[in-house]
Amino acid sequence: MTERPLVWIPRPVHTDALARLRPHADVRPGYGADGATFDEISDRVAAILLRTERVDGAMLRRAPRLRIVARHGVGLDTVDVDTARELGIAVTTTPAANSRSVAEHAMTLLLAVRRGIGIAIRNEGDTRAAIRGRELSGGVLGLVGFGRIAREVAAIASHGFGMRVLAHDPMVPVSVMTDAGVEPADLPTLLSLAENLSLHVPLVEETRDLIGLPELMALPEGAVVVNTSRGGILDESALLDAVRRGHLAGAGLDVTTVEPLPSDHPLRAEPSVVITPHTGAQTEQALRRMATEAADHIIARIT
Ligand code: NAD
Repeated sequence: MTERPLVWIPRPVHTDALARLRPHADVRPGYGADGATFDEISDRVAAILLRTERVDGAMLRRAPRLRIVARHGVGLDTVDVDTARELGIAVTTTPAANSRSVAEHAMTLLLAVRRGIGIAIRNEGDTRAAIRGRELSGGVLGLVGFGRIAREVAAIASHGFGMRVLAHDPMVPVSVMTDAGVEPADLPTLLSLAENLSLHVPLVEETRDLIGLPELMALPEGAVVVNTSRGGILDESALLDAVRRGHLAGAGLDVTTVEPLPSDHPLRAEPSVVITPHTGAQTEQALRRMATEAADHIIARIT
């Protein structure tokens, strides 16, 4: 009888993924009572279902039967992709699995800021008098980047909240935006109109500090900025400045340049800034989709 392939899972993932893998492979966790280290299974391992752990070239070379490293989520910065390619080991991601969750989180942050939830939770002074909310309905939402997450945000904002949605993304055909009921705009036009601004671009050289003080001051007075993309795209000291000047009504941040943002960071002292610790994709559905899609990539490769 041929030996069943072995799948190593260094950190816990949604249990549905384990159930999906078990008919096809032996599943060995890297945690818990029967947990195995990589060194213990390296000569047998056929697949790794990876969250954010590091898999370097030396590990890949020590695993002669390894066929695939399946990432749970996106981003390949923890895997030595060049060595994997050289050795014929597939490396996969699950880029669309959490888009809806992150989009809903962006809307959550926007609503939280617009309705003064951060101020209400602090409960200092006459909170009721301090809060003057603003409906999203009829407002303008500007999206920087129009990829997977931004498209979900656009659908929720226009269909669910009756917002006018503009987007700036030089890599996306205009027809994709207009078909989605979104108005294409260059960045200066978008900034001049966006009462609500939401960022959905990757962090690369061209997008680092894309939104600094001039861009924030170009927004209409009383605008709200939401960032669920990556810290580093929005200049945090400029944001603090624009909030303190009263130019912005507030901001919602799921991502920051340092994560988690230290408790003494000045942005945390601003009641109109709502900060979550990179939890945009932390939903039951996204965690399940990321894990089961990664399991499917493994099954396709090892059977
Ligand atoms: P995507 O690749 O589908 O879309 C990104 C879009 O940005 C692309 O359409 C691209 O053309 C556009 N873009 C790139 N540079 C641009 C620029 N200079 N100006 C305008 N547009 C530009 O990515 P996605 O899945 O929508 O993810 C967007 C961001 O969300 C990424 O930064 C990702 O890391 C982040 N993200 C965050 C979480 C979270 O938990 N908060 C989870 C998943 C993804």
